Amino acid sequence: MPVEILQNIFRIEVPLPKNPLRMLNSYLIRGEESSLLIDTGFNLPECRAALLPALESLGVKQETLDVFGTHIHSDHIGLASEIVGPGRAIYLGSGDFHWAASEESNLYWELMDQRFLIEGFPQEELTYLVDRNPARNYGPVLDLPNYKVVKGGDTFELGGHYLEVVEAPGHTPGMVCLWMPREGVMFTADHVLFDITPNITMWPNMKDALGSYLDSLKKFREFPVKLALPGHRETGDYVARIDELLRHHDRRVAETERVVSENPGLTTYEIAGRMTWQIRAKTWQEFPVIQKFFAVGECLAHLDYLIGSGRVERVADGTLHRYFAL
Ligand SMILES: [Zn+2]
Repeated sequence: MPVEILQNIFRIEVPLPKNPLRMLNSYLIRGEESSLLIDTGFNLPECRAALLPALESLGVKQETLDVFGTHIHSDHIGLASEIVGPGRAIYLGSGDFHWAASEESNLYWELMDQRFLIEGFPQEELTYLVDRNPARNYGPVLDLPNYKVVKGGDTFELGGHYLEVVEAPGHTPGMVCLWMPREGVMFTADHVLFDITPNITMWPNMKDALGSYLDSLKKFREFPVKLALPGHRETGDYVARIDELLRHHDRRVAETERVVSENPGLTTYEIAGRMTWQIRAKTWQEFPVIQKFFAVGECLAHLDYLIGSGRVERVADGTLHRYFAL
């Protein structure tokens, strides 16, 4: 059942079946002529079954519904194309819009696979993942005219509330959050999560995803936030959590640098296999392939950051990238 957080602002819990994130927080801002739904859940029957009756119980008519996609991950905008009102908007940040509606959008997985091969990920493991990666299969219809780009400073006024878009590149290239300056409420999406560390990975249209993420965290730390409303699970102490996330990445950067300097010339796949991960598998060989995919993406983001700060170099060796400490 939806929970009213402020007048005309509701939190709807959407389950994410067979996913370690467990649930998504969808937020509705209900207005007279238009309502805005922040994130939707996967394009899966279980998500639909939670979201649609909740919207109905709140008296929201589809004709008046716009969707604010905080980012392009399919657990956030999977149902956007289905629930958006006819002729209404699905808002996305520009770096993510690139993957929703540009000519390059259908190349995303091809570009990712090519890059992962260069980083030492085995072809047979990539092939195995083709129909097993939820990000690949539970997304919205992308080829639609409804997608609209929002930028930092864009505003929404509805339901008696005033909201501003704040850009938070890092977790995705075009992540956008919403800030309510009067109430001190920040919709943090997956930029600041409290029970989970947001996954930072490589993107073909980002040079240094981790560097951007850390910059975004520092920028967000300055907002006088009284209540943070995250994309998954529960809220918590906003500034303390940002500081914890900054420290976490400091430690991971240091660990990545140590593995590279102790083992010169490894691929990203091999470096990831020597890092520590919070997972039950005892060895890298025992990692489920999907977890290897996330680990290698995260390791690559940390390597990009180290390269950007002049501490590591990337050397092309035939069809592979190898890494050396400087
Ligand atoms: Zn996400």
